[in-house]
Amino acid sequence: LLINYKFVFNGYHIIRQYSMTKLIICNWKMNLGSQNSIEFLNQIEMAASNKDNKFIVCPPYTSLELVGNNIKEKQSDWALGAQNCSDQEDGARTGDISASMLETLGCQYVILGHSERRQYHLEDSKTVKMKALKALQHQLIPIVCVGETEEAYNQGKTQEVLKKQLEESVPSKQCVVAYEPVWAIGTGKVPQVEEIEETHHFIQSVLQEFGFSNVSIVYGGSVKANNITEILGQPSVSGVLIGGASIKPESMNPIVSKLSI
Ligand code: PEP
Repeated sequence: LLINYKFVFNGYHIIRQYSMTKLIICNWKMNLGSQNSIEFLNQIEMAASNKDNKFIVCPPYTSLELVGNNIKEKQSDWALGAQNCSDQEDGARTGDISASMLETLGCQYVILGHSERRQYHLEDSKTVKMKALKALQHQLIPIVCVGETEEAYNQGKTQEVLKKQLEESVPSKQCVVAYEPVWAIGTGKVPQVEEIEETHHFIQSVLQEFGFSNVSIVYGGSVKANNITEILGQPSVSGVLIGGASIKPESMNPIVSKLSI
């Protein structure tokens, strides 16, 4: 189901068509290794996707195959995603995992350029773009993460930072963009929904400038059962990326049941 909605941004009248199906992307980060991942999934009501929501679970590499098989066994329509991939096809890249390997495991999505990778692995936007191109060659939809630090936010530089990240890391309109303010990740701090709307509109207008229209933009940063409905209710929000709340049954089950109603 596609909905038309109009907004004015910087004096431009923008008409956007968006899908009602919202993406619920679960980023397990470096949690839930092989055995724990199955124990966790056995405590979650997984057959919960419906026409309004599509769940995408992104376990660590070592749990991908088990989780993929578990989803199939349960005849759930949850999709499988990875948290990173190499920008190279194959060869001498010790410790790396290729997009082709992820495709073989049944992944449909891959998170790229998460702020933790930018921070701890010094990944820059140009590398993220190369990874996204490689992912697209292997039928994986890149979920490209962008977001400003607290310092940039306080200095009023959010748009400047985002524009540069988008320009350098998004290669095509076939991507999902995840707007994740770094200061909101794992902190319990969440921007006002009006602020999320405004920033998503900004991202949309920048992408449109590059010729990429109708890109799905999801929000990430301290999403939990108590704020998910309001955030997903914003027209510019095509979904959410959930970290901490997606790895414990006591925080994930209330999210699943809220979205299944
Ligand atoms: C994330 O890691 O992308 C994230 C949004 O984490 P959290 O939900 O824990 O803030």
